[in-house]
Order: sequence, then structure tokens, then C-alpha cells
Amino acid sequence: MNILANDGVSQDGVDLLEKNGHTVIQKNVAQDQLADFMNNNEINVLLVRSATKVRTELIDKVVDLKIIGRGGVGLDNIDVDYAKSKGIKVINTPAASSESVADLVIGHMFSGIRFLKNANREMPLEGETNFKKLKKSYAKGTEAAGKTFGIIGFGRIGQALAKRAIGLGMKVCAYDKFIDEATVKLDFFDGQSVDFKIKTTDFFSVITESDVISLHVPAQKEAIIGKTELERMKPTAGIINTSRGGIIDEEALVKALDEDKLAYAGLDVFKDEPQPPVKLLMNPKLSLSPHIGGATVEAQGRIGVELAQQILELDQ
Ligand code: NAD
Repeated sequence: MNILANDGVSQDGVDLLEKNGHTVIQKNVAQDQLADFMNNNEINVLLVRSATKVRTELIDKVVDLKIIGRGGVGLDNIDVDYAKSKGIKVINTPAASSESVADLVIGHMFSGIRFLKNANREMPLEGETNFKKLKKSYAKGTEAAGKTFGIIGFGRIGQALAKRAIGLGMKVCAYDKFIDEATVKLDFFDGQSVDFKIKTTDFFSVITESDVISLHVPAQKEAIIGKTELERMKPTAGIINTSRGGIIDEEALVKALDEDKLAYAGLDVFKDEPQPPVKLLMNPKLSLSPHIGGATVEAQGRIGVELAQQILELDQ
């Protein structure tokens, strides 16, 4: 089969497909040229991540497409039902990036509670001349141990995050619309492991009791964190969104930060990607990353191989 990896795919995945006789084209074709490119190259499999949109218009135009593969979780950039109605299979790799996203959340938390974002920006400019001033500015950080980590959405990433929070000596407080209880397993380097049974609680207990809150729900029609929810959080708390843009009301978030109703926030995802508003980008209390939660060497490797394995199975 002819396979187009339009948002990139790992070399391990490419090797596995090519070893089995498939042709992989790694090229980022612009959205408006995609249909023509796919027809000219008789593309049977289109691999995407979140950037390329696979909407009905594209599906209607392409002639040879048999499989759409989404590297990662969340299929909101693909018109899945329409593709399936046309006999096109849709596959994804929902579990491949959970550990990577959970790592990034912890990064944003430490960026917030130890002011790493601002210290990193100011040290190159003033570290030589104003070291003592900077030392004083960033001396009031707090520790993670003993604090409460609130997790909204207790699925794959939420549970991977719980393991990290427990490892840091934090209390975990989780809410999930559909999960009442989950057992998270902490595996240690020497083969030991410990199971933690975590019962989820109600949404507002998580909001009001947590020192840091992280969002791990699928794309929603409306924000689940807006003015009311932000006002009920502790003023010393932080909130982190690595799930989907729009799950936090960004206007209300900036206002809460500016009015000291919230200490810090971390955002990896934005309502308007790839052009988030400048007032978010310039806010000193926001720790920011450009939607890289699942973008690690390990996760990308797993995604490529998992997609390749599923394609090989479907091709049998
Ligand atoms: P998952 O399906 O395993 O877990 C989501 C959980 O949210 C489920 O347990 C579900 O019951 C719960 N849920 C659904 N609606 C809810 C609501 N309104 N309130 C509370 N709980 C609700 O998904 P996951 O693999 O953990 O992924 C979570 C999110 O992370 C998704 O939005 C996904 O798109 C995003 N994600 C982001 C990146 C990144 O690069 N930043 C990478 C991978 C995944």
C-alpha cells in the first residue's frame, strides 16, 4: 500500500511498514493540496496527528483511501463516522502518549510552584548583574509533598499522573464523570510494585480542595472550567490543561490570574491553535508549551510502531 505520513511518523514505524512491502511517503502536504497529492500518488493510508484535518470534503475527493491512522488519542480532527460510512477504517493509538503527557503536567506544576519559567527568562538577562535580586524574587516557592493534586478526568493520562503525584508525596483527589474507582500501579526500578486504590470524588471537592488541578477529559462542547469554577479554587492553587483547548475558558483564566484569584497556570493546548492570543502568551503567571504533551521520542516511537502493526493486521 502507499502510505502518506502527513504529520510525521517514527522511523521504527516506517521501517516496519517498508519491511513488509509498503511504501511510506513522509511529507507535510498543505491541507488545500492534500486531495490532489493523495490522488496523484494513489495513497491508501493517510497517517496524521492533530494538525492535518480529515474532513468530509477531503474524504469525498480521495479515491484510493482505505485507512486513516491517527497517531495519539482524540479523533476530533477526523470525521470518523463519515469515513466509516465510506468503508474507510479509522485507527489510533490512545495509550501511547499517556506517560509523556503526565510528565509534562509535572513540569508545568514545578514551573509554577518554583517560578522556573520566569527565572529561566530573567537569568540570561540579569543573572550576572542582579543575582541577589532574582534570588529574592524567586525565594517563595512551595514544595509538592503534602499538597493535594486534583485530577479531572481519571482515564489513561489522569491515572498516569496520579502515579507521579503519589511518587512526589502528594494526596490525589480525582473526579471523573464515568469512573468511580481505579487502581493505579506504581512500578519501581527494582521490580517492586504497589497498588493504590483511588475512589473518585465530586467535581467541586476537587476544585475547592486541590493545590494543583490538572484536566484530562476529552474535547468538550463548552469549557468545564470558567469564572465560577476558577473563583472556587484556592488563590494559592494552579491549574494545568494538557487535554484540549477550550476546556478552560481562557478569558476567565487570564482574569483570575491577573486578579490574584489563582497563583499560576500551565497550558499545553489552546482554543486557537496554532495562533493562541498574545495576552495568554505574555502572561507572566502562565507556563506555556506548544501542544507537545505527547511529543517525546518514546511516545512517538510507540505511536509509529502501534500504527504500523495495526496497518499490517488490517492488510492481511
Ligand atoms: P481517556 O479517555 O483515557 O480519559 C478521559 C477520561 O475523562 C475518561 O475516564 C472519561 O470518563 C472522563 N470524562 C469524559 N468527560 C468528562 C467530563 N465532562 N468530566 C469529567 N470526566 C470526564 O483519555 P486520555 O488518554 O487520558 O486523554 C485525555 C485528554 O488528553 C484527551 O483530551 C486527549 O485528547 C488529550 N491528550 C493530549 C495530548 C497532548 O499532546 N497534550 C496528548 C494525548 C492526549
